[in-house]
Amino acid sequence: AFEGLTERLQGAISGLRRKGKVTDADLRDTMREIRMALLDADVNYTVVKEFVRNVREKASGANVLEGLNPAQQIVSIVNDELVEMMGDEATPLNKSPKIPTVIMMVGLQGAGKTTTAGKLANKLKREQNARPFMIAADVYRPAAIQQLQTIGEQIDVPVFELGTDVDPRDIVRQGLDAAREAKADYVFIDAAGRLQIDEALMQELADIKDIAQPDEIMLVVDAMTGQNATETAEGFNERLGITGVALTKLDGDTRGGAALSIRAVTGKPIKFVGQGEKMDDLDVFYPDRMASRILGMGDMMTLIEKAQKDYDEKQAEETMEKMKSSTFDFNDFLDQMEQVQNMGPMEDLIKMIPGMANNPALKNVQMDPKDMEHIKAIVYSMTPAERENPDLLNPSRRRRLAAGSGRPIVEVNRMIKQFNEMKKMMGQVLNGNTQGMEQMMGA
Ligand code: GDP
Ligand code: MG
Repeated sequence: AFEGLTERLQGAISGLRRKGKVTDADLRDTMREIRMALLDADVNYTVVKEFVRNVREKASGANVLEGLNPAQQIVSIVNDELVEMMGDEATPLNKSPKIPTVIMMVGLQGAGKTTTAGKLANKLKREQNARPFMIAADVYRPAAIQQLQTIGEQIDVPVFELGTDVDPRDIVRQGLDAAREAKADYVFIDAAGRLQIDEALMQELADIKDIAQPDEIMLVVDAMTGQNATETAEGFNERLGITGVALTKLDGDTRGGAALSIRAVTGKPIKFVGQGEKMDDLDVFYPDRMASRILGMGDMMTLIEKAQKDYDEKQAEETMEKMKSSTFDFNDFLDQMEQVQNMGPMEDLIKMIPGMANNPALKNVQMDPKDMEHIKAIVYSMTPAERENPDLLNPSRRRRLAAGSGRPIVEVNRMIKQFNEMKKMMGQVLNGNTQGMEQMMGA
């Protein structure tokens, strides 16, 4: 997601870099480009207007024109504004003082309500040892109940259902009783959706809200629907008073507008983002990390957290230190690769590395697990000394690696080149975000 927006924002700002002295007119041009980039990314018009006004205000207040490095200052102002626009801090799931916490899932058909209920239940179960419980209250969509049951079996969470012939209000009443009986601590109500907001749906949801008194009304919106996502959020919020948003399908080809507009338009926080179809593919939404991602500064924190799932913190810190001081060698690289292989699709991870999301060389890259095996084969063919000191790898040693790994020499050369580039880039970025980014933009 966001590649288009990232490229445009970087382009807009890098224009300033080429100037020795930045004039008021230059700044106006830059702001116009940023404005167009945001509008083309489907960010809500009013939100864009306010955003541009704020950035311009801060930029003139900060004396950007007289500053030594106008582009860098603008990056930092834009970054701060993006973070603020998305709500500053991560907002946790609401929790009832006494069990159960009731979470009502609402949203249009196909947005991802059922899937997200399952993902969230799974997350609570895994991270907090919670005892979730799900109520199948969508009696209209064909096979909706079956879908929730399948998910329930998969994550081992009980599902309450009364078929499709019972009024959803009664299902919710009885389901809540059953949940209390089962001593569940989180209850998910998988309510119905429609293709569009309509009165019958809203009335049903309002009734369910009255009955269940949910602690959280979680609106699920599909990030791929662009401007419509924001309008949907406004509609549901006006009628039901949502308490949080889960933004789904951020793994898809979305332009980013929904992530950037929803908070500003509804005043309600995005709490989670869905980034895939699997039960593990749900993450807490961090405005600052999202801003870095949008600006192409990568999302190192998320990457490191993913690694920490089966990696201890100390080791991760050591790796960071090595990257910073550029002592990262092929042994670390092998370690990393093994960690990364347990973490999920390579393409997604690569995009979190600073500078990689927009790296043209990786634009349409499909990381084949076979490629990883080839890279490993090359590293395994290195002597311990070569692994610790990649500079030793002269042409004759490289030929030996090619023979040893059974890979063509061009592939060996390419791999070493990429390793060196990665090492350099990480060193730069980790030693001061904006500076590293500056260099990338200038490149
Ligand atoms: P509902 O009608 O709102 O309950 O939507 P579903 O939960 O049935 O989801 C509709 C489709 O979107 C399903 O095929 C899901 O697997 C898919 N889906 C949901 N969330 C995500 C996501 O974050 N990423 C991707 N790629 N697909 C998702
Ligand atoms: Mg559903």
